Amino acid sequence: MIETAHQLLKEYYGFDTFRPGQQTVIEQLLNNEDTLAIMPTGGGKSLCYQIPGLTMDGTAVVISPLISLMKDQVDALTSLGIAATYINSSLTSEEQRQRFIDLREGRYKFVYVAPERFETPAFIETLNSINLSLIAFDEAHCISQWGHDFRPSYRSVVPALSNIIQLPAVAALTATATNQVIEDIRRLLQIETDHVVNTGFARENLSFHIIKGRDKKDFISNYIFERKQESGIIYTTTRKQVEALYNHLENKGVSVAKYHAGLSEHERKQAQTAFIQDEKTIMVATNAFGMGIDKSNVRFVVHYALPMNIESYYQEAGRAGRDGEPSDCILLFSGQDIQLQKFLIDQSLMDEDKKTNEYKKLQAMINYCHTHNCLQTYILDYFNDLSKPEDCGKCTNCQSTQDREDMTKEAQMVLSCVKRMGERFGAGMVAKVLKGSKDKKIKSFQFEKLTTYGLMSAYSEKDLTNFIHFLVAEGILSTGEQRLPILQLNKSAEAVLKGEKQIWMQTGSVKQAESTNYE
Ligand code: ADP
Ligand code: ZN
Repeated sequence: MIETAHQLLKEYYGFDTFRPGQQTVIEQLLNNEDTLAIMPTGGGKSLCYQIPGLTMDGTAVVISPLISLMKDQVDALTSLGIAATYINSSLTSEEQRQRFIDLREGRYKFVYVAPERFETPAFIETLNSINLSLIAFDEAHCISQWGHDFRPSYRSVVPALSNIIQLPAVAALTATATNQVIEDIRRLLQIETDHVVNTGFARENLSFHIIKGRDKKDFISNYIFERKQESGIIYTTTRKQVEALYNHLENKGVSVAKYHAGLSEHERKQAQTAFIQDEKTIMVATNAFGMGIDKSNVRFVVHYALPMNIESYYQEAGRAGRDGEPSDCILLFSGQDIQLQKFLIDQSLMDEDKKTNEYKKLQAMINYCHTHNCLQTYILDYFNDLSKPEDCGKCTNCQSTQDREDMTKEAQMVLSCVKRMGERFGAGMVAKVLKGSKDKKIKSFQFEKLTTYGLMSAYSEKDLTNFIHFLVAEGILSTGEQRLPILQLNKSAEAVLKGEKQIWMQTGSVKQAESTNYE
């Protein structure tokens, strides 16, 4: 059957070869094996279920989280001459009725539905009356509560599947999944470990950058100005930020659109279309914008503030360069943004376990901003990507031409200070002790009596805090799982203290004050 699959690839899509992972996924589905496919954005996930759907008899049911996503996919298939449709709440009941009739008569190769559809007995009944080729979960991470976009309705499809009498092969597809999410999807859908196809997440055409200590609005205006006709997305955390930045750019004559959940559906649609059709060059938006947007020529994605975790960051940043051309992913970092993200987690209705997990993920995002290693590698490590490519050579850290200096002794000072303070305080307090601050809190804990008090007075408190963040990012210190990050020594800290492990840092990242006198 794989020959047929090859033929269809050429005949319908005009491609000669499969991309990595596609053939394996297709073969497994044709063998009736439930399959989980993990591929980066733009990796070609749609073909993975469409070709088996075309090869086999019957209708494929595709579960999709967004109406716009369904429409785009159906339009794409229809334009290839493939019988496809969607059934969702955007249709009148008469339209829905007609599509159900056509579905029962086997007129479609593909039908796209929202997960809620599985809650209606009439739909299950219909599925039981037709010949099914496969069931595909698009954006399968929505099924896991550990995913960054959990949708309870996705989860409730799982028990509904047991009501389907002749259950065909199930395909789950996603671009973003941590091990925890992969395990969760696998367990929920009972997919065998051997049937997980993970091509890795590397996107070679993307360059990752972190900008610190610059005026954000200035940076963006200059950046956009240098790239006149290039399409880009700027993500902010709040609607207010969208409005402010939108006004700022519009006043400067930039061709800009805005998108957030506070706008009417009409306004959002208009903005989206203008951006997709290149009438507007820049889109300023909250994370409400983007899922299911297939715009291939986005040349850059700027994050105006810290995203909540690496999963969302990589998914949003990954909307750049879907066409494979070189593109930038830039994160504008400032320490204050951390507070907003913490506040958002704190205010949310999640239970304590979930919150703890979110703080942990946020910390990994913060570490990304402090690491001195390759940013691409950092992200791939986060996802436990086993393909382990070389450092990218083009991110902020790879490109930094600065030399590295040995900071082992300084690290030892920090670590012993954290230890002496009982591993009960955050970076700010530790920095104060090392600086020898006269802060009242220091007195109340009698920290001025510690041997490490004032040990690094030659540095500014800010540099000391940065250095501590760097040690966290390097995995020497950890911040525990509490809301207030409490510094604790990791295993590798022992090695540093014993002088068995050295700490290298970009020269000049933390500086001793020039005027210090050592009397
Ligand atoms: P994903 O859903 O994984 O983000 P898509 O399925 O939308 O990716 O595919 C991304 C792009 O890659 C599409 O334009 C698609 O036509 C193209 N593509 C997919 N498979 C192949 C292939 N085997 N050869 C060439 N192009 C492909
Ligand atoms: Zn790099």
